Formats: sequence, structure tokens, C-alpha cells
Amino acid sequence: MSTFQDRLRIPWRGGAKQISIDSALPIFLQPLLAYIAAQSVWCTVLVSMVMLLSMCYLYSVFVQFLPRTKFFFVWTLTSAVLLLLVFELSVVPFLEIMPHENCVLMGLVVSSGICFYKVRTRADLSCVVHANVGDETELVCSVYRRRFPPSTFHCRICQACVIKRDIHCVWLDCCIGDKNHQLFVFGVLFSAGALVYGAILTITTVCHPSFYIMETVLLPDDCSDVYHDFMIALCFVSSIYCIVIAFLLLILL
Ligand SMILES: [Zn+2]
Ligand SMILES: [Zn+2]
Repeated sequence: MSTFQDRLRIPWRGGAKQISIDSALPIFLQPLLAYIAAQSVWCTVLVSMVMLLSMCYLYSVFVQFLPRTKFFFVWTLTSAVLLLLVFELSVVPFLEIMPHENCVLMGLVVSSGICFYKVRTRADLSCVVHANVGDETELVCSVYRRRFPPSTFHCRICQACVIKRDIHCVWLDCCIGDKNHQLFVFGVLFSAGALVYGAILTITTVCHPSFYIMETVLLPDDCSDVYHDFMIALCFVSSIYCIVIAFLLLILL
């Protein structure tokens, strides 16, 4: 077990940076899951089910035993990078995406990226970090609660009191409080927009689009042969993944 506890080191400016095994896991897991899911429609269904259930399980385990894990944050970053790579390197070369459509999508991606980056940098502004009192942090916290607004809530993961705390977002690895809540909402809306738009562009590229709504919106016609070619299957699976995340994001909002 101690080997699992060992830390990986990657070269970084200002000395090597340590990465724990659990944080590095999504970088290897996601390409593998995408590869398996792209094999057949049943593989896609199976991987989706397994992923959804194991996420719930991992969440409960990490919250209990490893609350400061970067697993979910690295998962978010890896997903964003992989989805962008699939779109730009596999969907765009089909030459069915107009440059202005690509620009709109990139605009949404960059906007959500900026929002989420600011959510993380502004998260500390809502935090009232505890004085260093060792194991008695909980005790000090109750003092803080009396002195700060009643909506102030102690976050066990950030080890701080957060003013008007909404949630601790494991996917961004920070608390959502009064100083970053608005940015968080905008970030979620931009990313949901980017995911849905990217998925529509991808599916209409790989699924023989033919139907039109009011002569403007293109709809996929036949997706039955997407699994015959691995790259097309990968594009299709990515767009399904995008739609599921966008759906979950909008529900959680
Ligand atoms: Zn506290
Ligand atoms: Zn927190």
C-alpha cells in the first residue's frame, strides 16, 4: 500500500512538483475509458454506467478519507483538454465546421475558462482562514461563527470559514462563497453552452445531417454507423459525454 502512497514528481519551474497517485489517476483513466467506450454502443453504455457509479463511490470515499484530493479538479482539466483535442484534431478536419462556428465555440470555452480561473483565485477572498491552533481548529471556528455573518460556514476541505458559502466544488477544488458565486454561475452557463454547442457541431458532422428545423438548425439523421471508424466513434462518444455533463451542470445549478 505504501507504494500507492508514494508521490510522483514532475519537473516544474522552481523545483519538482509533487503529484499524488489519486491526482494523476484521471490523466491515465480518461483516455482509457474513451478508448473502451468508442468500441461499440454497448461499450459506451457500460462505460457511462461504470463511470457514473464509480464517481459517486469515489466521491464518498475521498470526502471521508482523502478530503484534500485533487482527483476531481484534475478530472475537470483532463476532460477539458481531451474534449478540445478531439474537437480540433478529429472533428474540424472533416471540414464541415465553419470558421465562425469554431470561433463561437472557442469564445464560449475561453469565457468559461476565465470565469472558473477567477472563481478559484477569488475563492480565498471569501475565506476566513483559521489561526494555526493545531487540532483545535473546530473550536476556533465556533468563535468565528459568532463574529461573522450567520451564513458563514466552515469548510472541512479548505480548512477555513467561508462567508456565505454555497458549496465546496470538488471539480474546481475550491469553495463557492459570496465573492465568487456570480462568476461561478457565469462559468457554469458558459461551459454548458460550450458543451452543448460542441456536441451539436460534432454530432451533425459525424451523423449524416439532413433534417432541418425552419431551414436553419441542422439535426443528425443517422448515427448507426459511427462505430465503424474509431476516430468517428471517439467524436461521437465525446459529444455524448458533453451532453451528459451539460445536463448535470444545469441540474446542479
Ligand atoms: Zn471554520
Ligand atoms: Zn471548501
